[in-house]
Amino acid sequence: SRVVVAMEDPDARMRGEGLKQLSAQGIEVGTGVGAHQAAELNAAYIHQRMTGSAYLRLKLALTLDGRLAAPDRSARWITGPEARARVHEARASADAVMVGAGTVAADDPRLTARSNSFHRRPARVIVDSSGSTPPAARVFDPGAEVVVATTARCSHERQTAWKEKGAEVLVLAESPGGVDLGELLQSLSERGWLEVFCEGGARLATSLLAGGHVDRLELHYGPVLAGRGGPDLGDLGVSTLGDAPRWEVAAMERAGDDVLLSLVPDRGSR
Ligand code: NAP
Repeated sequence: SRVVVAMEDPDARMRGEGLKQLSAQGIEVGTGVGAHQAAELNAAYIHQRMTGSAYLRLKLALTLDGRLAAPDRSARWITGPEARARVHEARASADAVMVGAGTVAADDPRLTARSNSFHRRPARVIVDSSGSTPPAARVFDPGAEVVVATTARCSHERQTAWKEKGAEVLVLAESPGGVDLGELLQSLSERGWLEVFCEGGARLATSLLAGGHVDRLELHYGPVLAGRGGPDLGDLGVSTLGDAPRWEVAAMERAGDDVLLSLVPDRGSR
């Protein structure tokens, strides 16, 4: 006789239709109870249904002075085991884990997820516009789907070699930093993927931030200073602080010796 609903389904095929049908049947419908919590819980779904683009979480492990690695490009381990365990949980809760070609070259990660809470195998997405990623990289090891996002600049031979390793190759438009990231997030969303968890590195993170593609920014600070010379964020198009997009702190916590900060765009400043 009575239905209590947290929020309307933003899917264009629904948008209140189900609620109307319930009301038409004489059922009392109350909406908006816990709406804020529901919106947080469903952030990726709402974003994907409203924009047609996958929700992007960008996680960076940073030194206290904002470096992503030391001058020799070593980034292992800025953060400790507790923060890294969180990263595995985050990977497993996403539909895909994404990195740039520079990270594959520097760290040769597998990008698989080890999680006690989720038994999923998120796909691995490599963003490589020129074809520099060797097919022998560990990211092509079996265990989860691999998608390489590239451009027409990548040779057919390299594309074929990736496919022979079981990867799917997406040839997308070119934008100033390399692959057109807006088109990539749309294309991933068209597969029904709601959430992409990007783990850097510096150049890909810079392009995502400069392009306004980051829906949640997760900064993991390790208690270490690296000084000048290692990779850090590049040009974000900010010339004066008053014009810089601001972020709202959604959560802040300590994990072992590290501090984890989760931020969402402050839409009022954009
Ligand atoms: P990256 O950001 O992983 O990859 C950059 C490469 O991706 C570009 O050189 C470009 O190569 C390709 N790319 C394609 N489309 C792009 C686009 N639209 N925007 C930007 N890049 C695009 O590599 P990186 O900047 O060299 O960073 C690697 C360093 O960061 C390593 O030292 C690694 O250890 C460290 N790292 C740190 C963290 C952390 O959280 N601390 C995370 C990851 C990596 P092509 O021109 O060949 O396409």
